[in-house]
Amino acid sequence: MIYLAEAILGLLVFLAGGGIFSFLNVVAYRMPRKISFVTGRSHCASCGATLRWYEMVPVFNWFYLRGTCRSCGARISFRHPAVEALGGVLALLCLRHFGWSAEAFAAYAFLALLTLVALIDADTMEIPNGLVIGVLIVAVAAWGCGFAPSWRERLIGLLCVSVPMLLITLVIPGAFGGGDIKLVAASGAFLGWKMNLVAAFLAVVAGGLYGIYLLATRRKGRKEHFAFGPFLCAGMAAALFWGAPLLEWYLGLYKF
Ligand SMILES: [Zn+2]
Repeated sequence: MIYLAEAILGLLVFLAGGGIFSFLNVVAYRMPRKISFVTGRSHCASCGATLRWYEMVPVFNWFYLRGTCRSCGARISFRHPAVEALGGVLALLCLRHFGWSAEAFAAYAFLALLTLVALIDADTMEIPNGLVIGVLIVAVAAWGCGFAPSWRERLIGLLCVSVPMLLITLVIPGAFGGGDIKLVAASGAFLGWKMNLVAAFLAVVAGGLYGIYLLATRRKGRKEHFAFGPFLCAGMAAALFWGAPLLEWYLGLYKF
């Protein structure tokens, strides 16, 4: 019975997380277009038909509707259920990692903001300042609640990646975008300097591999840019959950 209860609870957490990220899909679409995302029910982007309650169940609705709108048959991007599933998985990870605590909610808010940054940067190559300020607010709130890391580690985190990135960009114009630099400053205030370094390292490795792939397949030229924000966000999320054991393992390689 206890397993069944846990499975049901897990499913509810997954659906709640997916429901929140379903709203992020809307925000990611409307924010760059300066449309209010507070008003207006969920509706089809093609014909404007509003969704029925059973069509708003995250992830499963897309499969139930077979990826098309019930009214006009327009295709609904696979990105919608993918982002919702991500929200569900991240909610479960936060719960497993931090338990039922305010810290879990702070982590989830941080991850939700990162997801918005990744989606909007991938679409527009811009990171809205509002989202960076949002990350900073979550960082200050987490510090105010007394969660680790300490204020010193957060303060160093604010500068430890952002300043080097700024210096590199001064030497090589366009190396990093202003939004990327502001984002790593804010994430450092949340993660602390150690995990922010791990996040930056993971992002550079993943982004570098992606850049090589783009060059090798001739999808982009040598001088062209691609959005680095999604890699930074993925690195930050990975560092939040697995950064500490990863760092321990890495430093262990150099023990004699
Ligand atoms: Zn429609």
